[in-house]
Amino acid sequence: MTASSDTHSTPYEAPLKDLILALDVVGLADILQLGHFHHVDRETVLLALDEFGRLASKDIAGTDRIGDVVGAQIDRPSASVETPVAFHDAYQRYVSGGWGSLAYPQEYGGGDLPSVISLALQEMFASANMALSLNPVLTQGAIDALLHWGSTEQKGRFLPRLLTGEWTGTMNLTEPGAGSDLGEIQTMAEPRGDGLWLISGTKIFITWGEHDLADNIVHLVLARTPQAPLGTKGLSLFIVPKFTESTVDPGGTRNSLRCISLEEKLGIHGSPTCVMSFERAEGELVGDLHGGMRAMFTMMNAARLSIGVQGPAVGERAYQHALRYSTERLQGRSSGATNGPSPIVEHPDVQRMLLSMSTTNQASRLVLFWVGAQVDQARHGSSPLDRERAQAMVDLVTPVAKAWATDCGFATTSLGIQVLGGAGYIEESGMAQRLRDSRIAPIYEGTNGIQAIDLVARKLNRSDGAWVRSLLDEIASSIPTAVDTTDPLQPSYTHLLEALGTLRESTEWMLARFSSHRNDVLAGASSYLELFGLTMGGWLMVKRAEFSRSQSSKNGSRTVAECNFFALEFLSRAVGLAQPIRAGASRLEALSAIE
Ligand SMILES: Cc1cc2nc3c(=O)[nH]c(=O)nc-3n(C[C@H](O)[C@H](O)[C@H](O)COP(=O)(O)OP(=O)(O)OC[C@H]3O[C@@H](n4cnc5c(N)ncnc54)[C@H](O)[C@@H]3O)c2cc1C
Repeated sequence: MTASSDTHSTPYEAPLKDLILALDVVGLADILQLGHFHHVDRETVLLALDEFGRLASKDIAGTDRIGDVVGAQIDRPSASVETPVAFHDAYQRYVSGGWGSLAYPQEYGGGDLPSVISLALQEMFASANMALSLNPVLTQGAIDALLHWGSTEQKGRFLPRLLTGEWTGTMNLTEPGAGSDLGEIQTMAEPRGDGLWLISGTKIFITWGEHDLADNIVHLVLARTPQAPLGTKGLSLFIVPKFTESTVDPGGTRNSLRCISLEEKLGIHGSPTCVMSFERAEGELVGDLHGGMRAMFTMMNAARLSIGVQGPAVGERAYQHALRYSTERLQGRSSGATNGPSPIVEHPDVQRMLLSMSTTNQASRLVLFWVGAQVDQARHGSSPLDRERAQAMVDLVTPVAKAWATDCGFATTSLGIQVLGGAGYIEESGMAQRLRDSRIAPIYEGTNGIQAIDLVARKLNRSDGAWVRSLLDEIASSIPTAVDTTDPLQPSYTHLLEALGTLRESTEWMLARFSSHRNDVLAGASSYLELFGLTMGGWLMVKRAEFSRSQSSKNGSRTVAECNFFALEFLSRAVGLAQPIRAGASRLEALSAIE
């Protein structure tokens, strides 16, 4: 709980123009042309964004401060978890609007909209109240796992109510001895003899593991079965509902699982982070025995994008706050002003901070939406080749999008505090909450370090590096080869070309060394991921500027200026990353020299 008892949230206005522009840049028009989306037109998409934007700005954004100050509370004797009253109303509006089901199949009551649209909605939700937005994120993870791996009967039983949000879902992976390394999971599942399983063990850090917003909570639990192989190969995934199938109606008996405590943590206080105890709880297998990791990756891949979105989401809220403050706060006289203290927004260094915030938000949003668009193409693209390439792009860039966007988000909230000066460090301003909330995103859903390892150790060398080279070629082909100093975008092209050259060389360096010098590759993995994110961000900022100047000259010049700022301020640093990427593991020997 924070020191301040002020429960006033800072305002938030959904950045609809920027969201729509980002969707256009990553190919919304092409997605809507796909046969699968014949029932969706641009008008429907704009209407959905507008309506959800109003819900987020007007109804949800006012609840995040109370969530921070009051938080979720446990009543230990009954093992029940209460969330702030304001959350109930906001969540009910989300459920009654059918927002959770928008991107899911009509067969289960969904709207079958492109999944990239749901990323835009998730961004607005997380801007408005990151802690509350985690509830649907986890539910979506459970839905994805059931859609891919559930039996027809399980889908029919669980999906309709998970889609509406009447029931919510969780991911129960982490244990005290099993965080990044899930191979250490000890939770056991024993066959009960009637096709069901008895689950026993303790899971920690379970987001929304227990709460009072929904009638039932469907836990997806990774557990080990008797005589299963050691490590991750022996894990299976189980559905373990809070109320079992026969007892879901009010008054039914509870499954033998409970929340034994809530973690006190740095941020997202409104999101209950639960220690869950399963005491021979009734569960049913999802997918294949020992197929738990594959099923878990289905949950995690979609969730990684949703967590990635928290970067620009919290960054956007921080930016709006910082911008407002900078026009109201008077300090110092700006050059050229004739009298009085000036609003701090007139000082070049404050302008630098504000533009750094807004452009990294834009760039990281574009990278995430680009992957989201590839998800739609991978599922519904018009040819097998299109689908295969799009899926390869999803696999390759998801770790980059998750890690780079969440690192950017945290850096942005830190700048937000800097813009407010001392007031930013004081809880009452509300900016400190942004920094505290955003800090978890680089940790959960696979730490950003693990994302970097996933990128260099699993994703780059797929098809002997053919997919990564294909993406780099695509970026290269979009940059004009001749220098045109009259083109206002030329500074961006120049820096993009340099960054791309560095990324290409570093990629080849990684591919060539992975088998023989694994530690050198791992030592440079995080810097390589940063270079990848920066280059993708720079590329998509260029596309954004090109797209918008082709549409309107006013918006065009704003986006060109933003693009050049991003290129000069951030993309220009990409070449320097070649050093830490390729320095190898020997530089880490410095650690062993520490006494
Ligand atoms: C608020 C919150 C909510 C969460 N929600 C959920 C949830 O809903 N469900 C769930 O199952 N879990 C959840 N988690 C757990 C979260 O996913 C883990 O904390 C995360 O995966 C990291 O695991 P760990 O904390 O054990 O860290 P560790 O695995 O101990 O890692 C510590 C550090 O070592 C690094 N490291 C570890 N292994 C390696 C390696 N092989 N190579 C290089 N570096 C390595 C990591 O990158 C990290 O920097 C949540 C955690 C928090 C704090």
